[in-house]
Amino acid sequence: MEPNQTPGSIATLEKENEELKDRVAQLTDFIEHGAVPLHWVNADGIIIWANQAELDLLGYDRHEYLGKSITDFHQDPTIIHELFKRLLDHETLSDYPATLICKDGSLKYVVISSNGLFKDGEFIHSRCFTKDITALVREEERRNHLMQLLKKSEERLRLAIEATALGTWDWVLEEGKIYLSTETKKILDLEDDILYPDHILALVHPDDRGEVSLKIEGLQHHISDRSFDFICRTKKSKLNNTCWIKVQGLIHFDPDQGLHRIIGSILDITDLKVAETTNAELVAIVNCSNDAIIAKSLDGTITSWNHAAEEVFGYSAAEMIGHSTEKLVPENLKDQENDLLQRLRTGESLKHFETKRRTKSGKLLDVSLTISPIRDERGNIFGISKIARDITDKKLEERRKNDFISMVSHELKTPLTSVLLFTQVLKQKFNESSDDVGLQITAKIENQTKKMTSLIRDFLSLARIEEGKLQVVIEPISLLTLFEEIKNEAELLINKHHIKFACDSNITILADRDKMGQVLMNLLSNAIKYSPDGGTITLGCEKFGEKIRLYVQDEGIGIDLADQKKLFNRFYRVDSEQTNHIAGFGIGLYIVSEILLYHHSTIEVESEKGVGTTFYFFLDVTPESQR
Ligand code: ADP
Repeated sequence: MEPNQTPGSIATLEKENEELKDRVAQLTDFIEHGAVPLHWVNADGIIIWANQAELDLLGYDRHEYLGKSITDFHQDPTIIHELFKRLLDHETLSDYPATLICKDGSLKYVVISSNGLFKDGEFIHSRCFTKDITALVREEERRNHLMQLLKKSEERLRLAIEATALGTWDWVLEEGKIYLSTETKKILDLEDDILYPDHILALVHPDDRGEVSLKIEGLQHHISDRSFDFICRTKKSKLNNTCWIKVQGLIHFDPDQGLHRIIGSILDITDLKVAETTNAELVAIVNCSNDAIIAKSLDGTITSWNHAAEEVFGYSAAEMIGHSTEKLVPENLKDQENDLLQRLRTGESLKHFETKRRTKSGKLLDVSLTISPIRDERGNIFGISKIARDITDKKLEERRKNDFISMVSHELKTPLTSVLLFTQVLKQKFNESSDDVGLQITAKIENQTKKMTSLIRDFLSLARIEEGKLQVVIEPISLLTLFEEIKNEAELLINKHHIKFACDSNITILADRDKMGQVLMNLLSNAIKYSPDGGTITLGCEKFGEKIRLYVQDEGIGIDLADQKKLFNRFYRVDSEQTNHIAGFGIGLYIVSEILLYHHSTIEVESEKGVGTTFYFFLDVTPESQR
C-alpha cells in the first residue's frame, strides 16, 4: 500500500470509486451486449429500455421498439394485464409463455422471466428476460403434424383393410402370442384376440396340417427379413362347405434379437376357390363337348375356340382366337350373320338356328346354332357365346327322307286321280240306274279317295317346304268362289255339321289358288274332324284396314292353352282321350302356317275347351275389295 492510500483516505476512496465505475461499466456493457434478450417496461406499459439481443431477436431498430407500448408486440396483448398484475404483487415470473410479433410480421415463440424494480414501494419498471423457444415449438408442431399424418394413413390403411375383408395378425415371438384383428377372428371363427402358436394347427383342416406345420417350422429358421404365403383349408371345412384361406406374412429379423416378429394377413378365398373349381369344370365340359363352342366379343372377334370347333371347322384355336368368324360364313349368308349379330347385341338369344358354315378345306356344313349374349355381373352384354352343331348328316338323312316321301307321293297321286275319276263315272252310272247300294258304295270310295288325295297333297307340300322348294303364284281369287269349292270338296266328310259363309261376296283375295285352297281345306277338315258332335262351321272374313281377316270357326272340342302354342310344330298332335282315336299325322297345321308365311301372313288360334276353336289369318286383297 502506498503511504497516501491508507484505508478511508481520499485517495483510497477515489480509487475504489474508479474501480466501482469500471465494474458498473463492464456490467452495463455485458447486459447491453450480452446474448440474453432483455427489456424493461414501465408502469404505463411502455418499453423504456431493451438490449441489442432483444432488438436482434425481433428485428427492430432501437427507435422502433423503445418508447412503444409493449402490447403492440404481443400477438395476444391480453396477457400483459395478467403479467403486470403479478409483477405488482411482487411475484417473480419464470418462463411465462408468449408470442411476439417481429418486424417482418413473423412470430417468435418465447418464454418470459420477469420481476419488478420497486423504489420506496413504488413500481419503477419490469425486468424481462426473453428466451426464444421458436425452434422448439416449430419442432413440436412438426412432430404433431407428422403424428396426425401417421394417424390418417393408419386410418386409411385400416379402412382399406376393412374394405378388402382382409384380416391381420401380429405374432410377437418373445411374448409367444399372436394378436388377431377382428376380421381374422371372424375368418377363423375365434372369439379371443390372442392366439397361442401351439393352437395354430388345431385350426387347420386335418388334410392340410402336415404342410402347414412344415411351413411354420421353416419360418423359424430364417435369419433375415422375408415374406411368405400359403393357402390351406380351415378346420371349419365340412365336406360340402370347404373354407379356404390365404395367409401372407413378413418375417422381421433383428441381428441382435434374432427372429422376433412375424406380421401378416389372412383372407377368406373360398369364393375364389369355388369359382376356380367351377371354371375348371366348365373348361373340361367345353373341351370334351362334341359341339363347337365359341365365344366372341361384340365386334365379332373370337375369344375362345374349343377342341370340337377345331375338329368341325378345321381351324386351330391359335388360327382363330383374336380373329373374326367372317371366313366361316359363306358369301351369300354374310347379311344373315350381320343381322344375327345385331339381334344378339340387343340381348336376344337364338336356339337351334339352322344355317351353313364353310370349313378350312372349303366344305359347306349344315350347322345348328344356339347363340346367346354373355353378360357381366351388372347385366351388360360384353360378348356372344355360340354352340355350333354339325348337322350335315342329319340334313342329308332328312333330304333322303323327303326325296322318298316326294317320290312315293308322286307315284300314288296319278293312280289315285284315276281311281277318283272312275269312281265318279261309276257313281254317275249308279245314279242313272237308281242303284242305291252301288251309289252308296261309290260315294264311300270317293270319300276315302279324296281323303287320301288330300293326305298325299300334304306330304308333297311337306317335302317341298323342307327343301325350301315350295312355290306360290299370287293371283286375284274370288273368296266366295274359293269357299264354295272347299265346301263342295268337303261335302263327303260332313255328317252332322252345318257349314255357313260369313263373307262379303265381292271380296277378291291375292293368293296362290291351289295353296290357299289347301290351307282352307286343312282348316275345314280339322273343324269337321274335331267337332264330333257336329255344329256350325263358319268360313268367314272381315275387313281389317287394307287387309282382310279370314277365319274358320267351329263349335268342337276346343284346344288347351298349353297345346295352342305347339299346334303349328311339325308332327305335333294333341295327346288326349278326345283326340287319340281321331286319325292324323300332325302335319296339317304345320303346312298351313308354312304356306301362310309364303303369303307374308301368320296363323293364329283362339280356342276354349268344349266351346270351339277359331283359326284366323290376314291376307292382302285387291284395291277394289278394300273399299
Ligand atoms: P292332325 O289333325 O293330322 O293331327 P294337324 O296339324 O292338322 O294334325 O292338327 C294338329 C292338332 O291340332 C290335332 O292333332 C288336333 O289335336 C288339334 N286341332 C287342329 N284343329 C283343331 C280344331 N279345329 N279343334 C280342335 N283341335 C284341333
